[in-house]
Amino acid sequence: MFGRKLRLFTLLGFSVSVDTSWIFLAILIIWTLSLGYFPQVVPGLSPEIYWVMGTLGAFGLFFSIVFHEFSHSIVARKKGLAMNGITLFLFGGVAEMSEEPPNPGAEFWMAIAGPIASVVLGIGFLAIGGLGQNQGWPLAVNSVFLYLGFINILLAVFNMIPGFPLDGGRVLRSILWKIKGDIRWATKWAMRSGSFVGFALIALAVFAFLAGQFVAAVWWFLIGMFLRMAAQGSYIQLEMRETLKGESVARFMKPAPEAVSAEIPVSEFVDDYIYRYQNQVFPVVNSGHLLGKVGIEQARNIPKERRSWVRVREIMQEVKEEEKVTTETDAFDAIQKMNQERQSEVFVTSLDGELEGLVKADDILSFFKTRMALEQSNGGPSKPSTKSDSTKKAG
Ligand SMILES: [Zn+2]
Repeated sequence: MFGRKLRLFTLLGFSVSVDTSWIFLAILIIWTLSLGYFPQVVPGLSPEIYWVMGTLGAFGLFFSIVFHEFSHSIVARKKGLAMNGITLFLFGGVAEMSEEPPNPGAEFWMAIAGPIASVVLGIGFLAIGGLGQNQGWPLAVNSVFLYLGFINILLAVFNMIPGFPLDGGRVLRSILWKIKGDIRWATKWAMRSGSFVGFALIALAVFAFLAGQFVAAVWWFLIGMFLRMAAQGSYIQLEMRETLKGESVARFMKPAPEAVSAEIPVSEFVDDYIYRYQNQVFPVVNSGHLLGKVGIEQARNIPKERRSWVRVREIMQEVKEEEKVTTETDAFDAIQKMNQERQSEVFVTSLDGELEGLVKADDILSFFKTRMALEQSNGGPSKPSTKSDSTKKAG
């Protein structure tokens, strides 16, 4: 859904990644703190000190966001939810869940854990800053602590904006879900609320701009746009999950794909497969069993004159568990796997490793679009009949 991920470290079994957007944000934060915020709040220090304070402030903010996300993840794990890890991106982090929470109560506590953690951490930082002031610590040190205290409270407030998929939106959804017992309806309204708040923030940005407050205008605008995009993104995901419910991979599978024998030379692979078919990736098999995958990239690395000597087996790549599904796998799960691995297809294998077929993301997505179009002309996708219909077809 967002840009590229860079994996940083693993802690307590959760892998922490940053979205590339976070690198730009980190620079923007250090810059804003060193040239704007700290010189204004504590005037009279040298520029070098401001840069050190700005850098420490940015690292402290990074720590605070990780702390916030970990509290979500730990509560989620306690509630028995599988977590994919934590990704930091513009305006905070996302604790990635691979499934919906089991009940409204679980979602409520999971969502509110983050803001509570931020408030507690914020109070802690403020207390340390206050203590420092009392004890006569250097001004620069106290100011960084006080800034971190303030920013954690702000983080809690921002995340409590009632728009899905922010924490406040999840809290709202869990309450609506509890009231009506319908998670889809609750999600829709929690997302609409987020979209509306996003729109209000963009309007606020326009007013701020007209009033000459350019920095505030940029921030309001960015947050507003982010909220609207996030709401839209999770709406599409929800629709996709609902539309593909009960559809297994078998429906989209291309059986008997063009498989390459592991023992043929690369020259034959180039002539008989790459030139003949338009595929990006080919499965490599040995008497029906999936051994690996091979594509243009691997063939290109072998010099032309050596291609008749080298066999496909020597250049093929390993197929990870995440790139395999069975015919019973849910189509939505398959799409998520492809998303996570940034692949446009996955291989379908039997339980004993035999290659059965290939599924392309494009085929699932075009089915999704077609069904959405059909349901819209049918009086909206929320009709209960469509749900049972899709379950029946799969059976
Ligand atoms: Zn949160």
